[in-house]
Amino acid sequence: MQSRRLYFDYAATTPVAPEVLRAMEPYWSGEFGNPGSLHSWGQAAMNAVDRARETLSGAIGASFREIVFAASATEANNLGVIGTLRKFRMDHSDVARPRVILSSIEHPSVLEAVRAAERERGAVEVVYAPVDAAGRVNVPELLSHVNADTALVFTMYGHNEIGTIQPVAEIAEGIQKLRSEGKTYARFHTDAVQAFPFLPCRVDELGVDLMTLSSQKIYGPKGAAALYVRGLSTPRSIPLEPLVRGGGQEYGLRAGTENVPAIVGFGAATELLLARREKDADHVRKLKNYCWERIREVLPGSEVNGPPPKDGLLHILNVYLPRHASEDMLTALDLAGIAVSAGSACSARSLEPSAVIEGLGHSRERAASSIRVSFGRPTTKEEVDVFIETVRQVLVG
Ligand code: PLP
Repeated sequence: MQSRRLYFDYAATTPVAPEVLRAMEPYWSGEFGNPGSLHSWGQAAMNAVDRARETLSGAIGASFREIVFAASATEANNLGVIGTLRKFRMDHSDVARPRVILSSIEHPSVLEAVRAAERERGAVEVVYAPVDAAGRVNVPELLSHVNADTALVFTMYGHNEIGTIQPVAEIAEGIQKLRSEGKTYARFHTDAVQAFPFLPCRVDELGVDLMTLSSQKIYGPKGAAALYVRGLSTPRSIPLEPLVRGGGQEYGLRAGTENVPAIVGFGAATELLLARREKDADHVRKLKNYCWERIREVLPGSEVNGPPPKDGLLHILNVYLPRHASEDMLTALDLAGIAVSAGSACSARSLEPSAVIEGLGHSRERAASSIRVSFGRPTTKEEVDVFIETVRQVLVG
């Protein structure tokens, strides 16, 4: 029987911070208005949504009108990818097959959106830019594929399974240069869902056109995410087509009544994050390094998947533990009350080895014998010790 439950899956989701819960509280039943209503209830709700928009846009150096709220990062990624492609098709009817360039290890919310676009009438051409053993794209190689037919380039900023940080600013600079030379119209979308908790993600510094952010990874509630859309503030040149049409909310890009409590929570979580990001970073950096040192002690054959721990996202440690099937490890650790993961949360039931780890050039056996351990604000060194001791008991005997 397990005595205590320990959570090491903060890359999948985080608990809602108490400050965030308090900020959301009034909007469930007291201030329950629909932001689309003109009366005072509606105005109070709209003001709350706008305050969150202000906080979020300020946090990434965007303008107020460049933030579109959505229900999930998956939706924001879909809107960026499919919406950009549809708009490109409308504006460039002479291009038979618009090109999309993405790294070979993107999140399923991007890969599947692109695959769906491939099946649509007037298919797209998809170019998968290879990554090295650390998961990094080769910038000149990626840019060499950008041409006049390219509608979109997509790379994650910080990788959710292996923690790779992509050279997003460098890619954006290359695309901007090609655009200024009249060689492409391509827009650049990055998914900063995992990077935002620890990296600044300022759009002026990154130079991206589209960026996805999520509330549930920063101690905010589920049900809120955002898509930054460069240039949305100029109404004549809305750069993408909506996927959901209706009442015209979110500047017409995402119709449907806003999830006011969740958006308020997202805003409060962002404020909290800005106040303590350095402290958070320092905290998880120490835990990750400590955990990796101890894993190597207990299981000497283990190796890190992705970049060396000092180079990757601070909260994600993906390790290969030879001869131990991921699934068996997950089950055994879960029985002992410990939560880790074998890849992204959405693939937890697929039982397939991680395509991302295989995508780094590793064997299927390695992909099927790896786990992701991720750390968060509440994690303690003592919890890591219990984790290591449990791993020792479960895997070494
Ligand atoms: N993008 C990244 C990098 C993620 O880590 C996740 C979730 O784990 C998503 C997108 C999708 O988020 P959601 O399931 O909240 O839509």
